Amino acid sequence: MKKKKMLLSQETMDIAMVRKVEALSGTSVRRCFQCGKCSAGCPMATFMEHPPNRVVRLLQLGQWQRILAGRSIWYCASCETCSTRCPNKVHLASIMDALRKLSWDQDGPSKESYVQLANKLFLQNIRTYGRQYEMRLAAVFNVKSGQFLKDMMLGPKLLTKGKLKVFHQKNRNMAEVEKIFSRIEEMRRKGEAL
Ligand code: SF4
Ligand code: SF4
Repeated sequence: MKKKKMLLSQETMDIAMVRKVEALSGTSVRRCFQCGKCSAGCPMATFMEHPPNRVVRLLQLGQWQRILAGRSIWYCASCETCSTRCPNKVHLASIMDALRKLSWDQDGPSKESYVQLANKLFLQNIRTYGRQYEMRLAAVFNVKSGQFLKDMMLGPKLLTKGKLKVFHQKNRNMAEVEKIFSRIEEMRRKGEAL
């Protein structure tokens, strides 16, 4: 049976989405010609359901929902190997950043929504305490993710080894920490940051 060809065109592509990703990432999605050099060098590709070059291909084919619902963007370690290997100067690491931002904003049906939740709680802790407060992070994560007894048995071990603290002191430079968060929010409002 003859294989059906899928042609790339303005129709098969969701051009609005491609433009949005290109604007957020500052790089071209359309320039990728699928040589695969990015995926060949990506240290996280084996953990992803769609390796980096396929992420770009799915975007080109208008199938971005599959990317936002999957785990690939959350397994990307932002190491930028893909970007440095690309012969076409596609900054794939920035595309991954842009896709994470879109997935985050959508609060979408990501299979890795726990990763998003952990990420949000991590940053909330830093903003509130100026450093990480692991006990609170684990407790709030378990409550919000509905896994109340998750890692229950680990807690006492970590406490006795001094790896977890029940009480926590705030960073003394909270004003400086707040300045960083406020600055990022301001840059986001102006479209200067993701
Ligand atoms: S290396 Fe660049 S051109 Fe090649 S597949 Fe990856 S993004 Fe596309
Ligand atoms: S930036 Fe992400 S996608 Fe690119 S090589 Fe590193 S882990 Fe892979």
